[in-house]
Amino acid sequence: MTASPTYSLVIPVYNEEQAIPFLMERLEPAVAQLDGPVEILFVNDGSADRSRPLLEQLAREDRRVKIINLSRNFGHQIAITAGMEHAAGDAIIVMDADLQDPPEIIGEMAHHWRGGFDIVYAQRIERQGESAFKRATASAFYKLVNALSDTAIPLDTGDFRLISRRARDAFMHMPERERFVRGMFAWIGFKQCAVPFVRSARVAGGTKYPLPRMIRLAVNGVISFSDVPLRLVMYIGLAITTFAILYGIWTVIQRLAGAEYVPGWASLFVATVLLTGANMTMLGVIGLYVGRIYTQVKGRPMYLIDSVVSGPAPGEGDPKNQ
Ligand code: UDP
Ligand code: MG
Repeated sequence: MTASPTYSLVIPVYNEEQAIPFLMERLEPAVAQLDGPVEILFVNDGSADRSRPLLEQLAREDRRVKIINLSRNFGHQIAITAGMEHAAGDAIIVMDADLQDPPEIIGEMAHHWRGGFDIVYAQRIERQGESAFKRATASAFYKLVNALSDTAIPLDTGDFRLISRRARDAFMHMPERERFVRGMFAWIGFKQCAVPFVRSARVAGGTKYPLPRMIRLAVNGVISFSDVPLRLVMYIGLAITTFAILYGIWTVIQRLAGAEYVPGWASLFVATVLLTGANMTMLGVIGLYVGRIYTQVKGRPMYLIDSVVSGPAPGEGDPKNQ
């Protein structure tokens, strides 16, 4: 591998044995557009299929390629973090392994970086080959996160982006364990710009983000960047209490005015159930925040590395890259 690459490509991989061969084919010409030495950092996020041997084979054949094998599956956001931590380049490009992020536009992204931008994110103008359901849930996801969070996260951007060294350093100084990467980069600031692209269908295999994981990411995004749910819960609680007090006063007035006496067990029952439900919801929301505090306080490492595999030592192996 080159001593100090200008560009680091960070690619998280989880069970992508079918996509890897296509990926390398497409990467080759894309990388050739870049105006400096490149390292390609694959983060193998505990794949259970043949991804690991395939990647390690690549690393042996190509000195630009380096593999970080995590000790188990830590999830996409953590895999990206692990890759960034190990990236040596002056500019770091994060992209998915399934070719939904077209490598052809990294040249343009690099161009913007040379022009002085710290964060160049790729913005989807169209999605292809994804079910109407996935598109609808993804769109709801962005709207929800943005409506509730204090940091404006650019619409239709995923984790495909180029970042400068100093943006990467800022990111690494953010110690949160539950990482919502796109929100964190929005928070970091610096000069940012977008490069539009068409998100094509996955080249092979299936999504690693089924609905439950999407929901988890959405909840993470909201909780990490906003205390709106806590405030909302407080207001709902206040509203219910006010209603209960007013209702109480009203029944007393009714009684004093000599209105007909109502046994009222039904209204009591409804009120009890309603309040129990409201209480449990509020506790749940508070629990989400407390849970994050707990994770943070435990202070465990974000991830563990099983091994790092990089190309052959200088002098041996493939001469084409050096
Ligand atoms: N990925 C990962 N760890 C996971 C899930 C996914 O590293 O636990 C990787 C996956 O291999 C891919 C990228 O993250 O390179 C995005 O995943 P996917 O394409 O399944 O998500 P989608 O594009 O469907 O939202
Ligand atoms: Mg994908």
